[in-house]
Amino acid sequence: MKSFEAVQLYFNRAADQLELTDNMRTLLLTAKREVQVQIAIERDNGDLETLIGFRVQHDNSRGPMKGGLRFHPEVDLDEVRSLASLMTWKTAVVNIPYGGAKGGIAVDVRSLSNRELERITRKFVDEIHDIIGPDHDIPAPDMGTNAEVMSWIMNQHNKYHGFNPGVVTGKPVEHYGISGREEATGRGVGILAVKIIGRLGHKLPTTRVAIQGFGNVGSHAAQFLHDADCKVVAISDISGGYFRADGLDIPGAFRYANEHGRCLEGYTEAEKITNEQLLELDVELLIPAALGGVITAENAAKIKAPLIIEAANAPVRPDADDLLAERGVVIVPDILANAGGVTVSYFEWVQNRQYYSWNLDRVRQELERVMSQAFEEVWELSRERNVTLRTAAFMQGISRVGRATVLAGIT
Ligand code: GLU
Repeated sequence: MKSFEAVQLYFNRAADQLELTDNMRTLLLTAKREVQVQIAIERDNGDLETLIGFRVQHDNSRGPMKGGLRFHPEVDLDEVRSLASLMTWKTAVVNIPYGGAKGGIAVDVRSLSNRELERITRKFVDEIHDIIGPDHDIPAPDMGTNAEVMSWIMNQHNKYHGFNPGVVTGKPVEHYGISGREEATGRGVGILAVKIIGRLGHKLPTTRVAIQGFGNVGSHAAQFLHDADCKVVAISDISGGYFRADGLDIPGAFRYANEHGRCLEGYTEAEKITNEQLLELDVELLIPAALGGVITAENAAKIKAPLIIEAANAPVRPDADDLLAERGVVIVPDILANAGGVTVSYFEWVQNRQYYSWNLDRVRQELERVMSQAFEEVWELSRERNVTLRTAAFMQGISRVGRATVLAGIT
């Protein structure tokens, strides 16, 4: 199943509950604008390279469109379209005044020098600068992009349109960014994990956690849960998985990764396992925090964790989602689970517009407030309507977007 079909399927389940008409479904699912551009650059060795960039602007009924830029070899229009739509529901679930968008370039950033990465980013902005902007569409980091890339975007955009740091979020703290943006997605996952562990009647010290991915999201979720007294027994990245039954030394692994190019390769304080084995570990909580589509109909039966928090976007395929739901596995869906990132992006944008800086305590406090409220609303709705947390989250998102669309008037 293609990515967009999967989102459509979840959307329709929630739309059935909301008794939405077919015409309304088509309106809410169709992207406002889909842009594909050519990005031609000269490589450092003089070779010519032609890449394809995308920006899909899905919906703006609740505010300017918002969503990350993904630089990854698997990026294509279908994936960007599905991720743009997820952003619309995500910003609505946490009730921040944004719509949804997503962009990307099909490229392997590991094959690029920093200068090549900068050239590609600036060329991309040259192509899309007219359709982005602080009141229109605000990009942010996603897989393969980081704070430095966001600085280049701001700088390149501002050359055309004048100074305005709010055109992009996730910028470096010392360059119009906000403290706590980098940790935000992982921290949001951690906040929700602690809440749901309590709600399900479990205790933090007896909760064993496996986290797939030790990048920006996974590493901060690991740190938060380690500090909250959970036992993080497994982590992983492209170099494979690392397991320790008594719990890993997460601050140590964090330091190791930072000293080794953000990679765990060669980390010896744990038993080496594969990324597949990590997913199938006997743990109380599994957090897929890397690529999408890793939990499939093939491995669903082998998943032992009774609780999954989707830190990545779309890590559980719909067929696997059904199989897990039948077994009573609780899944906190991506549009709620990883909304901490875009929430702190919102704080950064507010701060940029006010020329007023918040400190880290305030950012963390506000993040906790937004995530907690969204969790309570989705949890209540799922109990009330006897639906999964995913369907409840989609219902919440769709109702808010639908209501705004109707209030604005369709003539
Ligand atoms: N790329 C992140 C996401 O998928 C963050 C988006 C943002 O901050 O706008 O939610």
